[in-house]
Amino acid sequence: MIDIKKYLTTICILVAILILGTVIVNIFISSLAHIFGLLINILVLSIIIIIIFSTIVTYNVIKDKKVSSSLMKINLKIANLLFNPVIFIASSIGIPKNEIRKIFVKLNNSYIYSNEYNFNSEDILILIPHCIQKNSCKLKVTNKIENCAKCGLCNVSDLVKLKEKTGMNVFIATGGTLARKIIIDNKPKAVIAVACERDLTSGIQDMKHIPVLGVFNKRPNGPCVDTLIDIHEIENAINFLTNKK
Ligand code: SF4
Repeated sequence: MIDIKKYLTTICILVAILILGTVIVNIFISSLAHIFGLLINILVLSIIIIIIFSTIVTYNVIKDKKVSSSLMKINLKIANLLFNPVIFIASSIGIPKNEIRKIFVKLNNSYIYSNEYNFNSEDILILIPHCIQKNSCKLKVTNKIENCAKCGLCNVSDLVKLKEKTGMNVFIATGGTLARKIIIDNKPKAVIAVACERDLTSGIQDMKHIPVLGVFNKRPNGPCVDTLIDIHEIENAINFLTNKK
């Protein structure tokens, strides 16, 4: 569940900081050339207008209202630029960083879903975090997912079946570095990445040249232990990227 109010609070604080900063700068530069002060005011005003534009688009996307693909694309670029200051302000006022990350992933996914693709199965790579494997299972599935004995105690067996059914490349990565290496080695045209809010956000920000659909894992046992995935969400993502729906 995405809480847009927390995002709006953070944006209001960011705009307030910008306005306050401009007032202070204006007081200090009153003795300097008039043109310099004017330039600073125009710059800050432009930034505030861009932030307000981005906030309106973000609000509409989160509320599942119709937004054009090109507006979403522009907004995603702005959200990328604003991401670090927004995360900083949110955590400073006690808003969990994951609330902002969820919004970023939603903006990314909505933009991808606003386009049309027609990839072959083998062009798509599915990246799964290692914590999906049952903690007590000793089989080494990170190098080769087929090593899973399909006992059904965790979602790895579902993924093996999905791989057999679709011919999709499915990899289990032990961390962000290995995930990046898998992408570089396999050169996919699209990625379906399953991870927590933090890893998904950094992965999406790293892979700007190809579509990366983010799917959140479920963590009923806390972070990084026996996590779960909704296999239907993965199947829906595959159907969309291969134009089968
Ligand atoms: S489904 Fe596969 S990976 Fe999961 S516990 Fe069973 S054998 Fe291990």
